[in-house]
Amino acid sequence: MATATRVTTYTNYIDGEWRPSTSGQTFENRNPANTDDLIGIFQKSTRADVEAAISAAARAYERWRLVPAPKRAEILFRAAQLIVERKENLSRDMTREMGKVLSETRGDVQEALDMTFYMAGEGRRMFGQTVPSELPNKFAMSVRQPLGVSSIITPWNFPMAIPSWKIIPALVCGNTVVFKPASQTPLSALNFVKVLEDAGIPRGVVNMVTGDGDEVGTPLATDAQVRVVSFTGSTHVGRIVNQAAAPGFKKVHLEMGGKNVIIIMDDADLELAVDGCIWGGFGTTGQRCTAASRVVVHEHVYRSFLDQFVARAKSLVVGDGLEPDTQMGPSNSENQLQTVMEYVQIGRDEGARLATGGRRLEQGEFGRGYFHEPTIFADVHPHMRIAREEIFGPVVSVIPCKSLNEAIDIGNSVEYGLSASIYTQNINQAFAAMRDLYTGIFYVNAPTIGAEVHLPFGGTKNTGNGHREAGTAALDVFSEWKSIYIDFSGKLQRAQIDT
Ligand code: NAD
Repeated sequence: MATATRVTTYTNYIDGEWRPSTSGQTFENRNPANTDDLIGIFQKSTRADVEAAISAAARAYERWRLVPAPKRAEILFRAAQLIVERKENLSRDMTREMGKVLSETRGDVQEALDMTFYMAGEGRRMFGQTVPSELPNKFAMSVRQPLGVSSIITPWNFPMAIPSWKIIPALVCGNTVVFKPASQTPLSALNFVKVLEDAGIPRGVVNMVTGDGDEVGTPLATDAQVRVVSFTGSTHVGRIVNQAAAPGFKKVHLEMGGKNVIIIMDDADLELAVDGCIWGGFGTTGQRCTAASRVVVHEHVYRSFLDQFVARAKSLVVGDGLEPDTQMGPSNSENQLQTVMEYVQIGRDEGARLATGGRRLEQGEFGRGYFHEPTIFADVHPHMRIAREEIFGPVVSVIPCKSLNEAIDIGNSVEYGLSASIYTQNINQAFAAMRDLYTGIFYVNAPTIGAEVHLPFGGTKNTGNGHREAGTAALDVFSEWKSIYIDFSGKLQRAQIDT
């Protein structure tokens, strides 16, 4: 346990320097598995700090945009290599500051690593378009160009993966960045920025400002020098960011909440489906945007599935994510835990049957953190709030159904559209569900979680606004097209439309 005298005070990173906030104020970052463990002190920044970071990014843009993309990528390859070398320490810091078990934080860091290598490769691709001109002796093509200063606003549940999904494509495209991480996970954010600094990113190209969502986030969405805002977080805050950025006609990329569904048909391999529901429902303590918080089960296998699912949930080992035996860590904060407890009460009041869990864990070591039992509600009606609203905790609603069509209707009945999955041996059912579930990601015989960095990631409806992270789709967020016509005929030629 760290003592007060040994606790580090961390600063913002602006214009290539580590600087305290002009506010003179700070906030604490504590371990959610043991709140006696003070991880560090971070800057409670002001609008003035953000404006300094944006100005630094705007100045740096004039140089960075002219660095050839393969050269920009060389710095990113070095950054990826540094992540490889630091992976274990980065993962341990992350578990300590946000609670998920070590195997999962290693996965989070691995995603940042994969994204950095993958996007660095784009420095030598970043393909444009060439098309035949309709006129002789003329070339027609379109190239990607950067937008300018990019605001990056991120949540706490993937504290390195999600920042990397935004910052690295922004950089390879030639943009500069002002990054505001979630206040629950500033250390992982800082560790990532340190990697970029150590890799040789020029001053002002990447800036980081910590602090409150409103104070730091608002100027990031409104400042006239910002051209693109990429936000991941709740739908509620995403809407605020979207509205704040609209008058300035900024490009806005939003990845928001989820209420994802696993459908289990009567021909499914039930053991595999139970494995998927345990991992999908309780991985990261249910705090994933892609968490499988709804399981819709065909009535023929409902009882059998539920018995197995409940037995497995009861056997999960809850505890500190740094302990090797732990399978599920704490909620991230007291607020998050209170939300979980409120929804457990809502579920009871709505008449759902509590099949297991439902209580905060407070005895012994648990009393120092934000722990909750893995919780399953059975016989849930799709109209209940626990089946429609994002809880972001270890609570799964199991809903019976009579047919695939009914299951698909239930799947589509929520405001979100991130991820969905079906367990079946029948390829016709799998394809029908793939076509008809309106989500951005779909799985067959696998849970609703687990993305690969070279495919687009994101959601429909109130989960996203039509953009995607990852894959070459991320380049579309952080670049815009310039179409170019080169006429070497030596005379005025008119396009067909003019003649
Ligand atoms: P949040 O919306 O509370 O915060 C997200 C970020 O926005 C934080 O950095 C926060 O400080 C900042 N913020 C808060 N108020 C702001 C304001 N007024 N202006 C600008 N920025 C502001 O979300 P959270 O609790 O950090 O994360 C959990 C949410 O994120 C869940 O809803 C989850 O589903 C979602 N999420 C979505 C995805 C996805 O890809 N769709 C991935 C991970 C998490």
